Amino acid sequence: MLEIELKFPVADLAALKRRLLDLGAKPSDAIDEIDHYFNAPDRNYAITDEALRIREHAFRGANGDTVITYKGPKLDTQAKTRTEIELPLEGGIERWTDLLTRLGYRPVATVRKHRQPLTLAWAGFVVQTVLDDVANVGTFAELEIVAEEKQRAPATQAIQKLARDLGLEKSERRSYLEMLLATQGREKLSTPLVVNTGADLRHAIASYRHQGQRIGFVPTMGALHEGHASLIRVAARDNECVVVSIFVNPTQFGPNEDFQCYPRTLETDLKSCAQAGAQLVFVPSVEEIYPAGPQTFVEVKELQELWDGISRPGHFRGVATVVAKLFNMVQPDVAYFGQKDAQQARIIQQMVQDLAFPITIRVCPIIREPDGLALSSRNRYLSHEDRQKATVLNHAIQRAQEMFTAGERDASKIRDGMAEVIRAVPGAALEYADLVDAQTLQRVDTVTVGNQVLIAVRIGGTRLIDNAFL
Ligand code: AMP
Repeated sequence: MLEIELKFPVADLAALKRRLLDLGAKPSDAIDEIDHYFNAPDRNYAITDEALRIREHAFRGANGDTVITYKGPKLDTQAKTRTEIELPLEGGIERWTDLLTRLGYRPVATVRKHRQPLTLAWAGFVVQTVLDDVANVGTFAELEIVAEEKQRAPATQAIQKLARDLGLEKSERRSYLEMLLATQGREKLSTPLVVNTGADLRHAIASYRHQGQRIGFVPTMGALHEGHASLIRVAARDNECVVVSIFVNPTQFGPNEDFQCYPRTLETDLKSCAQAGAQLVFVPSVEEIYPAGPQTFVEVKELQELWDGISRPGHFRGVATVVAKLFNMVQPDVAYFGQKDAQQARIIQQMVQDLAFPITIRVCPIIREPDGLALSSRNRYLSHEDRQKATVLNHAIQRAQEMFTAGERDASKIRDGMAEVIRAVPGAALEYADLVDAQTLQRVDTVTVGNQVLIAVRIGGTRLIDNAFL
């Protein structure tokens, strides 16, 4: 059986009720309904156009029955034709919510409405009419015929004719849930789905891909800040589905580096992902990414040996390998990286080209604090005093820009100028400050427009990097 249903906004419910009674409609008892909506662990119902609802009925103040309903995707564009499975539930909403959340379902919202049903014989069909007063949404009339599939066309016509006769227009295709979420200023079911395994990730992404939607991917190590959020926002602008990975990748940390104490702030990270517009957050364990001693690695030979590769041996091999693996798991159309990690971005571009990944790489601008310090998850390691000193990276870059603008083209002079700025700050230890070709990252002797300034400085125990194009 099919449920063919049209819904219209109504200015005056009482007037519409009188008109229906005039047509011979039979009213039955008014009902209060509380609808609890859930979203699935393996796909996003907002995208697949499905719904899972537990409905509590109350009849004239008494407790009523509770039913669970699954609704399939709508099958046509005018009437809300869709498959529906409805079963009675016992045990109370709290216990069912507990069970469903343990299974990975997420409560989305609760819609409360007061409903006045009327039954009308019309054009050979029985039309169930419901006049709805929906809390925080508005007043509506729903007209519904339950019909065999073969009667779909005449039933749809009958319902449309009745609507015209009742002066109802501008049918509303959105569910009360969607309207409620819209009034709350939330995107449809915008809480991102969090998955921990590659299998769940593939499953969740499949529902987007089936619908021909573009997948954008933002790989991160978490401890998210505005720099990460800017990547997610750009990805959300360009793609229907944005996947963010949060994985502190052990293979890109050296033995004496900060893997153990790297900040892990999953709860606030998930909020940032939701606010920035991510649909899926992949949070794998180390075992999920590296199940048994891996023997295959990705090395971007020349680029990985330069700059950060010197003080962090093996770092870029770890980065390239994990990003290649994540690319295979997510299979995005576009992946987003920050210019903040210039050498990393260049290495990923080279890897994608060399290994023919069918993925577009977008490198997004550096997001900075008002005083010029580039945002970084590691900035939180800085003491108050060191935080003040950390602006020295940006000051050194500014010195380079000023010298270049003033006509200096000798790279060694600009390099010396930057070193002088760093030396002036006690406790700031220069690792490198240099001028490079943006493609090869090789040091240049004579500087031209489009060359890049790269800089790495240790302040206290914290290593900070920054860069800019001349
Ligand atoms: P991470 O979590 O440090 O691995 O960084 C994840 C992504 O965010 C990388 O592509 C970084 O380049 C990017 N990112 C980090 N900080 C910034 C920033 N301040 N501005 C723009 N992108 C950034």
